[in-house]
Amino acid sequence: MKRTIRISAKHLGELAMPDFCARCFWIQLICGWRMPFTFFPGIFSTLDSHVKRVVAGYFAAHDRLPSWLPTGLGKPLTVPHWSKFSWFDESTEVLLVGAPDEMTRDRGNRISILDYKTAKYTENADALLPLYQAQLNSYAVIAERLGFGQVSSLWLIYCEPQPVDSKNPLVSCLDSGFRMDFAAKILPVQLETKMIPALLAKVRQIADMTEMPERREDCKNCQQLNNLIQNTLELTT
Ligand code: SF4
Repeated sequence: MKRTIRISAKHLGELAMPDFCARCFWIQLICGWRMPFTFFPGIFSTLDSHVKRVVAGYFAAHDRLPSWLPTGLGKPLTVPHWSKFSWFDESTEVLLVGAPDEMTRDRGNRISILDYKTAKYTENADALLPLYQAQLNSYAVIAERLGFGQVSSLWLIYCEPQPVDSKNPLVSCLDSGFRMDFAAKILPVQLETKMIPALLAKVRQIADMTEMPERREDCKNCQQLNNLIQNTLELTT
């Protein structure tokens, strides 16, 4: 019997990146995805929760989604907590976990999945699209396996901070602090759930490696690390 691997939809997406490094992935697997010297600022989760509350509040008041979201998606669903939104792939014994920011059901019972990104849509964001595509398709697979229904569309919603009105900056000033506006940019993501089994098989393949895989030759981080180790060795010998 194989060791069960637990992986988030986001980490699975790393395998879809053109600059994917099997060594880095293997190390992360060994470390249980808790790498030293890394931290994720909590403000992004706070902002995502804020957007979800705004959308839920708007739907409760108007019986429709805000106009800055894609049209025809129907009504928002309660998304289960990430610990309950998972699917165990028996063929690879990999448990895929992670929940989307928003799910909706339209009149034809079709499900749409949306994820909010607090960022400007730039070429850099574009570079992460393979990761996001795998992430959102993972959510689609989990939703269908959990019986939510057939997923028909996937969306990224970029929440872009807007500049202060330079002619009237005082409108952003509150007694308690200040306000920042956001504009939403919608990006449809290709629905291609067939990509997920191949990515899960790759996870299993890397997890079963008994030796560290080769590093990526063009990676500057690894070159810098090698230089650091080399310099340290020279200083201490
Ligand atoms: S080559 Fe780069 S990505 Fe791969 S293990 Fe080294 S630092 Fe990480």
